[in-house]
Amino acid sequence: MVLDSLTLYIVATMVAALLGAMLLFFGREQNIPALRWWGAAYVLGSVSVALWTLVGERFGEVVPLLLSAVGLIASAMVWNAARVFHGKSPSVAGLALGAVAWIAGGTLLDPAAHVLRLTIGAGLVVIYATLTAAQLWQERRASLQRRWPALAVPALHGFVLMLPILLGNMLRDSSGAFAATWVTVFAIELVLYAVGTVFVIFMLVNERVVSAHKRAASIDPLTGLLNRRGFADACARLIEREAREGRPVTVLIFDIDHFKAINDRFGHPAGDEVLKLFSAVVVNNLRITDLSGRIGGEEFAALLPCSLGEGVVAAERVREVFATSGIVCDEGPVDTTVSIGVAGGPAGTELEVLLAAADTALYKAKRTGRNRVETATELPLSLDHFRRQKAGLSASAQPAQLVAPT
Ligand code: GH3
Ligand code: MG
Ligand code: MG
Repeated sequence: MVLDSLTLYIVATMVAALLGAMLLFFGREQNIPALRWWGAAYVLGSVSVALWTLVGERFGEVVPLLLSAVGLIASAMVWNAARVFHGKSPSVAGLALGAVAWIAGGTLLDPAAHVLRLTIGAGLVVIYATLTAAQLWQERRASLQRRWPALAVPALHGFVLMLPILLGNMLRDSSGAFAATWVTVFAIELVLYAVGTVFVIFMLVNERVVSAHKRAASIDPLTGLLNRRGFADACARLIEREAREGRPVTVLIFDIDHFKAINDRFGHPAGDEVLKLFSAVVVNNLRITDLSGRIGGEEFAALLPCSLGEGVVAAERVREVFATSGIVCDEGPVDTTVSIGVAGGPAGTELEVLLAAADTALYKAKRTGRNRVETATELPLSLDHFRRQKAGLSASAQPAQLVAPT
């Protein structure tokens, strides 16, 4: 079967134009500027190739030179799409530089120096393809396994493009059959490149969207802290890491005092402000290595990779700062106090166990006057046991572990 290279070029151009339109559409729908850059690059590139194929030859030297300069701008736009995708600003200089170099080469060089001009043109495309690949490779969120197509697709494109130049001398001596085959291979490769890059960009976009959704699902929108699920997931990882080093962990549970009364007296929006203030107090008074989250309406929790004694000191700090925050509404000063339950456990103690023990301590803090820190003196033998004990079904509770404040 003989493949007609003109037909192949037309197909390649149409595929690229179609993909460009699709990317533009998705870029607009999903509000992803990188996809719009990518789509515009494909549309521009295919228009320039189509014009070059159809009318280019008829207008002498200048029109093909300008049309291929537009093609280079399209290559630079693909690179800019990858930049924008990584939150960088598009490079205007980079956009124009290739085209300027190409036009300069085309006007200054001897028209007979075909190979040199071809090498410059192909070299510029290869530079843009390499820059694109390097940019996509930097996508830190993607796993190594998923990143290889981002490198392989532009690399293949550059390789095929450079092939006749790399084998230049050999080609000139041959009958020209290789050149004809290369034109066909290049047209096929163009289709694969267009489809391949779209595949890569969609893969990266998809990965990013999934991780954004995951993040959103684990964050509390009011305070910006982790929600219960996000907190539990992050704690499981921290506990595992600390367990490997044999280090203890401590949990703090915070419950704002008489919060219902704050809502009733000052209104729900004021209550929300108090919640935001409290989360800021927690974040500012714990270490960067500590985890904190909002686990209920006005209940918060923190996991500290430290001993119970150090945890109590941190809890006292939070309690004190919140109590003296001195917020005043139109209706008068707001009493902001918090009760805190603290429980510590040896390396590897499960979060649920620590939370259950800290909850018991919190209950004690509430019972004994609020605005205070209480520590758990024992960890439940098992959670089932703890729940039964709490429900009054088991009278003979044995502490699993005594953790004295240090
Ligand atoms: P205690 O000192 O015993 O903890 O009393 P409390 O009033 O703080 O506890 P209670 O459980 O009776 O009330 C909690 C209140 O928190 C009730 C609920 O309306 C309010 N709340 C829960 N989530 C939010 C929220 O997102 N915003 C506001 N403003 N209030 C909330
Ligand atoms: Mg509560
Ligand atoms: Mg409360």
